[in-house]
Amino acid sequence: MKDLMLKIISLTKRRGFIYPSSEIYGGFGSGYDYGPLGVEMKNNIKLAWWDEMIKNQSPPDGGIVGLDAAILMSPQIWQASGHLTAGFADELAECKSCHKRFKVDEIKQKVCPECGGELTESRKFNLMMRTFVGPVETETNITYLRAETCQGIYVNFENVLNSMRLKIPFGVAQIGKAFRNEINPKDFIYRTREFEQMELQWFCHPKEAVKYFDYWKKERVKWYLNLGIKKENLRIKEVPAAQRAHYARQQIDIEYKFPFGWKEIEGVHNRGDFDLSNHSKYSGKDLRYFDEETKEKYFPYIIETSGGADRSFLAFLCDAYQEIKGGRTKTTKAAKEIETLLKLHKKLAPIKVAVLPLIRNKPELVKKAKEVFEILKPHFMTQYDEVGSIGRRYRRQDEIGTLFAVTVDFETLEKDDVTVRDRDTMKQERVKIENLVEALKEKLNVQ
Ligand code: ATP
Repeated sequence: MKDLMLKIISLTKRRGFIYPSSEIYGGFGSGYDYGPLGVEMKNNIKLAWWDEMIKNQSPPDGGIVGLDAAILMSPQIWQASGHLTAGFADELAECKSCHKRFKVDEIKQKVCPECGGELTESRKFNLMMRTFVGPVETETNITYLRAETCQGIYVNFENVLNSMRLKIPFGVAQIGKAFRNEINPKDFIYRTREFEQMELQWFCHPKEAVKYFDYWKKERVKWYLNLGIKKENLRIKEVPAAQRAHYARQQIDIEYKFPFGWKEIEGVHNRGDFDLSNHSKYSGKDLRYFDEETKEKYFPYIIETSGGADRSFLAFLCDAYQEIKGGRTKTTKAAKEIETLLKLHKKLAPIKVAVLPLIRNKPELVKKAKEVFEILKPHFMTQYDEVGSIGRRYRRQDEIGTLFAVTVDFETLEKDDVTVRDRDTMKQERVKIENLVEALKEKLNVQ
């Protein structure tokens, strides 16, 4: 299993998905950079989530709008949220296996009281990343890189409500970077200090919170399944009261079966009125909602779906990764090698179409292939590749999950058609160049 992870990490670097950050300087903490294919795939994941929330969702009785709040915010927000309270600045040790942190003065033993794992050395620890605003580095200029994106939504609750003339219930969706000074970053992009969250905050009447919690729980699982995650690799963990986040009245973790074990990729929380009531208390601004019809004034409850773009990236990658011993092609010499196939969902694959001249030492084939590439480029994420045998190029494209390979051969020069090879079935069909864009759009379900 460790082996599988190493293969996936190696593929991501070799093929331009993910590089270790600051590599020429020996790397930097747990940072990773998304390469040309990685950025496409990550954007596809974020777009699939955004479309799901903003366009496709029709939750009962309300709509969803978007937001992009600042990363640097008033430090008072982090007082109100509980991120700066004493507990976070205590002497802490973290369990290397279950990642729970424990106050050193409360535990006597060197092993985790929860799971028996080994504990790290203790240290003063606050997971907030500190920085200073302005040129003077004084206590009064301290602020923090946000540790979660949702706070930007809570403090804009009233702005969004009024400017968009909304009524409870409604949702606010946001995608953005978050930063946590994790003491034990690990498992590639699974646990890093800088990561991206995709969060929905659903504001509703307290009496309806349980209903909506169930609704969102199901919707979020569906999203992963619809994007190709295998059912057997996804599960819901009901989190018992003692293990819930401090703000959560109800909590489930959506877990994926990674090569390194079942791990959380998203949490769904019923946060009650914790956030709006605390921000009211700390800001002095009454954030209660007034219902014109019932004349009721109350703090809406919040149902949160909080997923990570990086963790779902890794889950989609692991789920799609396949090795075929002896290869799928039985006709060529290279068929004896292990073939790698990245069977990514069509919405997520970084490259949709590859254009390949059959051979590259025939100028008329190359010229035609480049013409075809220019035709397709504005419509799909397309790659042109002429290096190596055609079989090798197919396998190179399979390895990065390219959905269709368009080959320009000698028949093309006579008949003005090309072969279109399907990544999953390896079936090839001839399509007229004039119909190619439409045919590929149909296969990819794009309008
Ligand atoms: P964990 O227990 O794994 O530290 P968490 O329960 O603290 O995660 P939340 O605060 O619920 O995580 O954050 C919501 C989501 O944000 C997570 O499900 C995950 O996808 C993502 N996330 C949180 N911390 C990290 C991290 N250090 N690296 C990458 N993604 C993260």
